[in-house]
Amino acid sequence: MDYPDLGNESQVTSGKGIRAVGWLGYSYKKGRLGKKYVALLKGQVADAYQPFLYRGVHYCGHCNPESPARGSLNLLIPHKRWLYVAPEMIVHYVEAHGYLPPREFLDALVACPPQRSDGYFKLIDRFAKAAVLSESIWPPSNILETAALTYYNQRAKPH
Ligand SMILES: [Zn+2]
Repeated sequence: MDYPDLGNESQVTSGKGIRAVGWLGYSYKKGRLGKKYVALLKGQVADAYQPFLYRGVHYCGHCNPESPARGSLNLLIPHKRWLYVAPEMIVHYVEAHGYLPPREFLDALVACPPQRSDGYFKLIDRFAKAAVLSESIWPPSNILETAALTYYNQRAKPH
């Protein structure tokens, strides 16, 4: 599959506020990503919030086909008007295949609060209604919205 960088369609979700990053097709932008960004990216992916699950595995189409790298999680980075959606494989693409993510995604990474932090959930909440999940994810509902609601209900409980 090939979802162009910064298009509003990815393998797991699409919609007006969505910006796909790192769903590599046959050709993609190459370059050397600075260590600072690689570390940031790894940190965000390592603890990536998973409000929905992809029913399948992403195989790297650029590895040796006998033992391709694989992954099934996703990375959500909310920033300004956009919810950037990347596969966890983005780290592998950068490190093993020289993929260079778009500049605006790197800016979003720098600005993004830690995954699952209060600040992060506040930003994610803006996209709860905008994201349309694809048929290949589970559960088949707008779980972004559900997740945000659950979060707010928990916060609202008296202690
Ligand atoms: Zn690979």
